[in-house]
Formats: sequence, C-alpha cells, structure tokens
Amino acid sequence: MIDHADDYIDFLNEAVTPFHAVAELKRRFGAEGFSLMNTSSDWKVHGGDRLMIESADGRSLIAIVVGEECPAHGGYSIIGSHTDSPDLRLKPVPVSEKGGVTRLHTQFHGGLIYRSWLDRPLDLGGCLYHIVRDDDGRPKYSVDSELPEIKATVVRAGQPVGLIPDIAIHLDREKNDKGEINPEKWLNAVLGTGSPDEVMPKLSELLGHDLEKADGFHLHLFPHQPALRVGIDRSIILGPRHDDLAMVYASAQALVESLKKRSERRRTRVAVFFDAEEVGSMTSSGAHSGFLRDNLLRLTRSHQAFVREEMDPEQAFVESFVISADMVHAVHPNHPEKHEERHAPKINEGLVIKTNANERYATTGETGAMFRAICERANVPVQGFVIRQDMRCGSTIGPMTSALLGARTVDVGIPMWGMHSTGESVGAQDLGRAVAAFAEHFCGRPEASL
Ligand SMILES: [Zn+2]
Repeated sequence: MIDHADDYIDFLNEAVTPFHAVAELKRRFGAEGFSLMNTSSDWKVHGGDRLMIESADGRSLIAIVVGEECPAHGGYSIIGSHTDSPDLRLKPVPVSEKGGVTRLHTQFHGGLIYRSWLDRPLDLGGCLYHIVRDDDGRPKYSVDSELPEIKATVVRAGQPVGLIPDIAIHLDREKNDKGEINPEKWLNAVLGTGSPDEVMPKLSELLGHDLEKADGFHLHLFPHQPALRVGIDRSIILGPRHDDLAMVYASAQALVESLKKRSERRRTRVAVFFDAEEVGSMTSSGAHSGFLRDNLLRLTRSHQAFVREEMDPEQAFVESFVISADMVHAVHPNHPEKHEERHAPKINEGLVIKTNANERYATTGETGAMFRAICERANVPVQGFVIRQDMRCGSTIGPMTSALLGARTVDVGIPMWGMHSTGESVGAQDLGRAVAAFAEHFCGRPEASL
C-alpha cells in the first residue's frame, strides 16, 4: 500500500478553509489536465474529458472524468466528501479593544470542541469581497447579468496572528471539575497588544488587502501548527480538519490515480467536495442543494453520445453508485465503553462501513456488500460501525445525496479520535487504504474493455 501521509499533510496544511481546499484541489487537478467548466455557457463534453465545476460561492467543487458512454447508459461512479470543518469565523463587526489588547470576536461553525481552541497559535484566512467600481467610483454592474460586480479574493495571513488564552487555574479553581466554556465570552481571540489602529494595519499587510476597505468577508481562524506524524512507529497523523479533509484528499488522489491505471472507461467518474456538511448542508452548494444533481443532469445532456429522443438524463442515477466518505469514531483506548464492542472500529485496521436503522447513514445491505466487493478487489480490510443504542447517531452527506439522486449509496470512512478537536488523529495506513479502495471504485473492472 502506498504511503500517502506526507502528501496528505501538505494538502491539509494548504486546505485551511473551504475556500483554500477548493483552491488547492483546483491546483492539483489542474496539474493533471483538468479544466474548469464555464457554468454560464452551453456545454459539449466528450469521453476522456477531465473537468471541474466550481460552485458560485467558491466553497464546493466537482471533478469529473467523462466516460466514453453517455452517463444515461453508462452511469456515474461517485465519491462525495466535505470541505468544511468546525471552526471559528469572524463576526461581521469583529474588532474591539479590551485590557490593552485588540480582540477579534468570533462565531462558531459546527460542533467544535471549544477547549481545543485555547492556547493555540492561530492563523487567519478566507475570502474578501470588493465592489468593482467605475472611473467615477460608483458600483459597476455586469453588462451580461446586470448584477453588481463583486471581486472575490482568497487570502491567508500565513503566520500565527493570534491566540485564545485560557484562564489560570488560580483564577478558576473549579475548571478541572466543571470547565464550562461559554463561546460568546471565551472564544474571542487576541490579535496583539495595542489599539486596533496599531494592530489592524499589520494584519491587512499580511493579508495583502486593507480589511477596512473590504465590502464583505468570510474570515476563519484556524490552528497555525502544521499536522504531523506521531507515535513511535509514526503511524498516526495528528492535526486539524481530518474530518473531512482526509476523505477529500483520498477521493481526489484516487481519481487521479485511477487515470494512471485506466485512462478510458465507459462510466463517468465523479469526485464531489461539498461545503457546509457540519451545519446541515443547506447552502447553494451543499449536499442538500441541486449543485451535484443539476450539474450531472447537465453533463449527461451535453455528452457527445446523448440522444435526446432516446435517452432520459435521470436514467444515469439508476446506473450509478455513490460512496459517501466521511470520518468515523474509532474506539478510544481510554473510553472503550463509548462503543458497542462488536462495532468498534480500530485505528489502522481498515475502512469502516457505517449503518443506522434510522437511516442517518445511507448504507443498505446491498450497498454495504458492494463496497465490501470493491475493498476485496483493492485488498483493503473492512470494519463496521453502528452507534450504541443509548447514544445519538451523527449523520453526513450520504442520506441527502442518496435521496436527491435516487442512487445506491454507501456511507464509509476511516476511524479517528477526537473528532472536531483542533488536534484530531487518523491512521496513516487507513488513509492509504482509502485511496486504494476509492481508486478501485473509480477504475471499475480493470480487465474490462470499453
Ligand atoms: Zn464529517
């Protein structure tokens, strides 16, 4: 099994927000000959085309290798994952001065573990938006759409620009016993000593843009420390955002590797990277939107072999198989009672199929068996996960994707500790296995002729 851990760590250190994840994916796919589709023009696609579709908000992406056959007959091999992770984002009016320091006020995205954000060096980045103006300084409207023109720029300070200091145990004697953290009060970051007039220009300089002049922004705080391999055998990768960038990386890498094994295929290969899974996926490009379905229907209709009188584009979904790839709770050596012992996935012991009788996961008996077959071909061990019946089950993009497409779907992932901490742990071997199994899904039957 190829060791992908070092390349994954490089990816993780670039993909610090969904904007940066999409930018890094575009860079990597671009180097392999994938080109961006213009979503406002008509399409004509051909077998072998390597394409990318970026969402209008810049936070989701679809990468496609077009099959030789029209997807209406050939179907899609799809893997879905998500670009967002629980993090802290700046409030619209973020800056204040208190106690001799300039503070950034935050709001949280998703179910983060508050205490893991304390006493960490934090970097800042995201996307800035500027109104495009004419020579007289008035907001410009686009000639085509007649909507205001806005310029979006992805930015990153690239330095440890702040921190959220914890409070000393001497000032809070009960903290080890109670340790309650109120996010409104506790999770505002110190940006530096001195007034905003002194501190903010330095931040603007690092970002390459005057923050005061931005007409809109999405700015995230994220741990500055890079992910790294730990353990005497270096078998564990410790870092932020494994949920779900480990699966983003594995599916992207698998798509590229599948092309080396098999450049031509009947079937169309699709890796989709959705934003906003951590908050329910209800955005213009989340798994609950038409982003994937509409673009796949469009793609089917614009395939060179599509015959309008004979084919229905929706047929493609009947033929398709979706792997929804998101992370799984590994059994914890200090807290083994949190798992039911027969469904307790272990780190570095293989991929995990997730099932839930309340359909919080999309796996069925049939799709689980299909995924086992893929893993057997790829020589990858499989484990199983079901939540304890006295605990609440999480969910992911699988059920939504399955419901929107009507396609057979399996929910899988690799085991991890500390999900939603700034220091999550995954197994290096499991990452390599995920790439291998996903590449197998994208390759199909290697001995098959077109
Ligand atoms: Zn996730």
